[in-house]
Amino acid sequence: MLDLIQSLYHSRELNKHKRVQREKDKYQDVKAVDLLSRINELEQRHEQLKLTTLALWSLLRDHSGLLESDLKKYVEKLDLLDGHRDGKYSDNETLECNGCGRKILSKSLSCPYCGGRVNRKNAFSGI
Ligand SMILES: [Zn+2]
Repeated sequence: MLDLIQSLYHSRELNKHKRVQREKDKYQDVKAVDLLSRINELEQRHEQLKLTTLALWSLLRDHSGLLESDLKKYVEKLDLLDGHRDGKYSDNETLECNGCGRKILSKSLSCPYCGGRVNRKNAFSGI
């Protein structure tokens, strides 16, 4: 009789464990689908940016007489702005908030201290 009670108890615990595991698996599947969707979206955006960049370069080259070597020089110059040749453009510029006068990152959409709107230094600030 004791064996039967123990067996029922273990069976119940095992079913409970399986149910919890199925819920975890379902959550992981949803999370994986979300990540794949995000990767696809980023790949699409990357391809669009690459296409636009190549089109802009072609337009500039064809109408200005600039050469590939000129482009490479400018890429290197911008890469080295932060002191590191890492193939990235890093903009860690700061500016003074018009509202409270504190220094904030120029990438900020608004001042984190007072909420004031940030006046952009150039067209690419905040991107
Ligand atoms: Zn402020």
